[in-house]
Amino acid sequence: MKKNSNISDVIDKRLNCKLNEFSPYSVPQLECRIKLDGNESPFSIPKELSAKLTEHLNSIEINRYPDPEAKKLRNMISIASDFPVDGILLGNGSDELIEMMVSAFTGGTGRVMYPVPTFSMFRLCSIAYGAEVLEVDTDGNFDLDEELMINTIDERDPDLIFLASPNNPTGNSFSERKIISVIDHSNSIVVVDEAYRDFNDLTFLPLVEKYDNLVIFRTFSKIGFAGIRLGVLLGRTEIVREINKIRLPYNINSHTQRIAEFVMENYEFVNENVQLIKKEREQIFEILSGLDGVSPFPSDANFILFRVSDADSVFERLIEKEILIRNFNSPGRLENCLRVTIGKPEENEAFASALSNIVSS
Ligand code: PMP
Repeated sequence: MKKNSNISDVIDKRLNCKLNEFSPYSVPQLECRIKLDGNESPFSIPKELSAKLTEHLNSIEINRYPDPEAKKLRNMISIASDFPVDGILLGNGSDELIEMMVSAFTGGTGRVMYPVPTFSMFRLCSIAYGAEVLEVDTDGNFDLDEELMINTIDERDPDLIFLASPNNPTGNSFSERKIISVIDHSNSIVVVDEAYRDFNDLTFLPLVEKYDNLVIFRTFSKIGFAGIRLGVLLGRTEIVREINKIRLPYNINSHTQRIAEFVMENYEFVNENVQLIKKEREQIFEILSGLDGVSPFPSDANFILFRVSDADSVFERLIEKEILIRNFNSPGRLENCLRVTIGKPEENEAFASALSNIVSS
C-alpha cells in the first residue's frame, strides 16, 4: 500500500548523500553578443562543406539504433592516430569518459588524485561515485609539484590519477618530464586528458606502448564540434575491455557518428582553424601583457587565464558590453582570475579593446 509521504521526505531518505555537496553544473546562459566563455571553437564546418554534410545526415535512419561499437568512426580514428582500434573507446563527450573511468577504476583504495586547480568534473564525478579525492596543489607556475604528487602516490596509493595537460582553467601544459615521472612512479591508472592538445604539439599517446597504466583522452569539443558530444579514450585493450562493461550500448548517437566521420574525412579545415586560433592566442596574450593591472598566464590551449585587481567588476563590465567570459574569482589560487576563450579575430579585438577601456578607466 502506498504510504503518505511528500517528495522531499522521499528524496531525503533515498538520495545518494554525496549529492548534497553539489548544485547542478551550471554554465551561465547569458545572452551576449560575443561568447568567449566555454572554450569552444568559434569555427565549425565551412560553408562549402555544409551542403555535403546535410546530404550525409539525411541518409541516417533515425528509427534505427546507432552502431553500438561506432566501428567506422573508431577505425578512422585508429588510422589517423596510428593506434590499435581495440584500444579506442568513445564517450558522450570526454565528460562521460571521466565518469566511466571513475566508475570502473575506483575499486582498490577508492581514491582519485589530481592536481589543482583543474577541470571541475574530476572532482564532481569522483565524489558522486563515492571516491575519496586527493587534491594536490600545483607549484607557483601551475606546473605539477612533483615531490608532492609522488609523496601522495606513495602514501595514499590512488586508484586513478587525472592530469589535464594543457590544463583547464590555467592553460599551461604540465612539464613532460614530471608527467612521465608520475606515470612511471605509480601503479595507478593515469589519465592524461589531452582535451586541448591540438593547440600545442605535445602528446603522450606514443607512451601508451611503454606504460600500460596510461590512458589518453581527446575530444572533438575544442576544435569546432562541442555540440556533437564526442570524447575519445585511447589505452591498452585490457583497460578498454573493462570500461566497455559499463559503457551504455548506444552512447554515441547516429548523428554524432556521422558528423565525426565527415570531419575526419575533411580534416584539413580543422587544422587551418587551429592554426588561426593559435595565432590569435599569441596576439591576445601580447595585448593583455601590455595592459596595466592585467597579468595573463602563458597558455598552450584555446583560452587564456588572466588576473586583474577586481575580477567581479571587470566581468560585469564586460557583460554590459555584451562580452561573456568566465569568472573564476574565488579565494585561493584563482583569486581575481578570469578566463577568455580565443574567438574569431573580430571578437578577440572587441574583447581586447573593451578590457583595455575597463582597466584604464
Ligand atoms: N577535459 C578538460 C580538461 C576540459 O576542459 C573539458 C571541457 N571543458 C573536458 C574534458 C570535457 O570536454 P567534453 O566537451 O569532451 O566533455
